[in-house]
Amino acid sequence: MKKPAFIVALDGPSGAGKSTLARELARRLDFLWIDTGAIYRCFGLAVLRAHGGVGAQRENILNLLSKLNICFQQEGSRIFLNEEDVTQAIRRPEVSLLTSELSAWPEVRAALLEYQRALALAAPRGVILDGRDIGTVVFPEADLKFFITAIPRERARRRQEELAAQGIFKTFDEVFLEQDKRDLADSQRKLAPLKQAEDALLVDTSDQSFQQVVDGLELEISHYWKDSSGRGF
Ligand code: C5P
Repeated sequence: MKKPAFIVALDGPSGAGKSTLARELARRLDFLWIDTGAIYRCFGLAVLRAHGGVGAQRENILNLLSKLNICFQQEGSRIFLNEEDVTQAIRRPEVSLLTSELSAWPEVRAALLEYQRALALAAPRGVILDGRDIGTVVFPEADLKFFITAIPRERARRRQEELAAQGIFKTFDEVFLEQDKRDLADSQRKLAPLKQAEDALLVDTSDQSFQQVVDGLELEISHYWKDSSGRGF
């Protein structure tokens, strides 16, 4: 498999802050950022709109995979599905749960795996992918792997804040329960479950500010980049 210049994998459970970290790190390092959860969410949204859920014929649901036209813009921070900006729509709680269910289907993972790899391989300099199985399945040979986590209550608090900023108001208990359901489904599925890769660095962000975490990771990546390639930034 062809490999881009430098691959950084950021995995972890929902609400750990992976996407925000990945976006800022990619900006600082001039890397490509790929929010792989957003790719899975686009498929979830497409299924929700076409079939209302997973009650439809499996074959009809899977047919949607070949019709997905996903495109990232604005340094990966906006995502388009069949030319419609769905950046906000894919974050809705009903999409989160359906996506988690669909992402356990082998056919879905196989199709989206190829898509993620193809996107990353086009990166000219380096790429940061955030998700659940980047360091274990998508790029087990990644140059650097981080497993980003925080205690469940802190993750739910951040997620509640993030939803409120988008005009979606949920009680803490609702957010916590949804998160718990998703964490369980994501870590217990047979295929590519959420788990820390053996060679991933564990980063617990519970008691650290965003600034502290992002500065620490930038330093780590910069050191490793210099040590391993001599190219430097
Ligand atoms: O990261 P985010 O919460 O946006 O991901 C949405 C869902 O997509 C996750 O709950 C998980 O089920 C699925 N996902 C996955 N593998 C990835 C990224 C996301 O299964 N690499």
